[in-house]
Amino acid sequence: MTVKIVSLFPDVLGTYGDHGNARILAHLVRLAGRTCELTAVGINDVVPLDGDLYLLGGGEDGPQALAARRLADGSPLHRVVERNRPILAVCAGYQVLGRSFVAEGTTLPGLGLLPIDSVRGRARMVGEVLMTPFAPIGQSLMTGFENHGGQTILDSDCQPLGRVYRGAGNGGDGHDGIVHGSIVGSYLHGPILARNPGLALWLLSRIGVDVSDVPAHHWRLYEERVRASEGALWTRRRA
Ligand code: GLN
Repeated sequence: MTVKIVSLFPDVLGTYGDHGNARILAHLVRLAGRTCELTAVGINDVVPLDGDLYLLGGGEDGPQALAARRLADGSPLHRVVERNRPILAVCAGYQVLGRSFVAEGTTLPGLGLLPIDSVRGRARMVGEVLMTPFAPIGQSLMTGFENHGGQTILDSDCQPLGRVYRGAGNGGDGHDGIVHGSIVGSYLHGPILARNPGLALWLLSRIGVDVSDVPAHHWRLYEERVRASEGALWTRRRA
């Protein structure tokens, strides 16, 4: 059966190239010998409800508020979650799935699908992130690039995506992201699935797509960014 990947609003939440996550997943699905339909849903399009896996990316505050309003209308993602379909939400997309976030100078309601609130951080968080994932993604480390003013606070019983060694991630608790039911949230751009193929494979395994033969070059960027990040950490500790 065709695997349906749905990339939500890359026209407004595409500032950081996060639509690349959808393209990587589609490529891996085809490597697994399956057919894949990749739908890029524009901000004025109807959100399809029959997707297998959904993606939301990052963007500036205005487009983020627009995306939240759009997704509140008819609650398509609530129905996706009821069907237990995975959603990968990055940065602005991650904040939008929570209870509240700050944009346009005020606190706005999110979709309430994640037990998190995002507030304004003390300073903008920009740069490389190095962390260890808690989820069994077959990588001891994860890397990405962050650029956000929002700081995200998880309810105390939540499972973060990873523990941060370099960078801010959620911005206050030494962690990045969340794994909550079928939703994975993170601040990492890169795109995150280009930098962390293990996360892409893990997400696909959750919809029954097993990619056994991943060419070695898929791991080159991961290895290169881990070396660069670890090198920077090492230099800083010595200094
Ligand atoms: N606008 C949000 C913030 O600054 C998200 C930014 C992003 O998606 N990179 O916190």
